[in-house]
Amino acid sequence: MSARSELSLGRVLGIRVSISWGLLLVSALVTLTLALDQYPTTFPGHGPWRYWAAAAATTALFALSILGHELGHALVARGEQVGVEGVTLWMFGGVARLSSPPRTAAAEARIALAGPAATGVASGIFWLLAAATDSATVPTLSSAMFDWLARTNVLLLALNLLPALPLDGGRVLGATVWGATGSAELGETVASRAGWLVGAALGLLGLLQLRNGASGAIWALVIAAFVLGASIEHERRRRLSEELRDRVVGDVMRPTPAVVDGWMNIEQLLVHGESITASRHQDVLLVRGEDGAVHGVVRLSIALAVPVVARAGVTVSELLEPRRDVPVVRVDESLLSVIASHPETGRGTVMVVDHAGNVVGVIGPDSLIRRSRWAGGSPVRFGP
Ligand SMILES: [Zn+2]
Repeated sequence: MSARSELSLGRVLGIRVSISWGLLLVSALVTLTLALDQYPTTFPGHGPWRYWAAAAATTALFALSILGHELGHALVARGEQVGVEGVTLWMFGGVARLSSPPRTAAAEARIALAGPAATGVASGIFWLLAAATDSATVPTLSSAMFDWLARTNVLLLALNLLPALPLDGGRVLGATVWGATGSAELGETVASRAGWLVGAALGLLGLLQLRNGASGAIWALVIAAFVLGASIEHERRRRLSEELRDRVVGDVMRPTPAVVDGWMNIEQLLVHGESITASRHQDVLLVRGEDGAVHGVVRLSIALAVPVVARAGVTVSELLEPRRDVPVVRVDESLLSVIASHPETGRGTVMVVDHAGNVVGVIGPDSLIRRSRWAGGSPVRFGP
């Protein structure tokens, strides 16, 4: 989520807290529904300001209980020596963002369970308050308010414990498989596969409820989309890393790149380059200096960006990406290790050398290695 879609609220207990604009919208809708419909229908006879006050208090307390849930994750994560980037409260819940994955399965499970535990405590408190404010003879508005809060938090708790990533229940399932098999990756795969089932079931339930006009339908549909989206994303990353696992740099590079001279102007380069691109599909060319050695690379797409009228006056050397700035990798290196050790390879050009140091290929910025930038780690999120 970009910074613009969030409103920073500062820090609570040292954790950065922000809210999404969507939350403000949903809060307004919930307040409206409670003040104009639910409270007046259930408890007629009060002045409108009382309904509005009760509705606003309900929404504010609900937002606070979501904050409690996310702070639960964040504080336990901090206790487990895991960096916490912050928590965001959004439409139907929140997200706690961690800067690195927990180190053990047990730590992952403890962080995952801390949120639902906080939600459980919140519902308990609201049940007690509902009972305390209830009168023996007639139901009261404040009791109804706490009752709504308790029920909504129980619903949130139940949804959160569904065994599908990125819900907390999915994290617990993943941690359990991780603990049993020793493979964090397998745990994540099982939890995300479970997401297909849970997402489909929730989606179906949501659609049925929508037909009946039940208010929980939207929640079910939003969480279904959330869970299915996470499963799709996980599957994409898993396939990609599998695809890359046994491959070496030589498999994805463009071999024997064409060499051009640094003194050429862009007009000459493009005439020369056109024949090269047509025959070898290359965007990246090696640039040779006057000493005959490779000084760096030039990209045809950058040369094409030079205005036509200026092309005769600009030389290839001026557009050169010098060799010292271009990552150099060996042709037999494993692709996954290259991605891990050179995170910059996803953005620019990479030169490939053989054992003697001769340039034998290039990897352009448009290659497989670029897509794989996302194959490594995804941000660790606990939510809603
Ligand atoms: Zn959670």
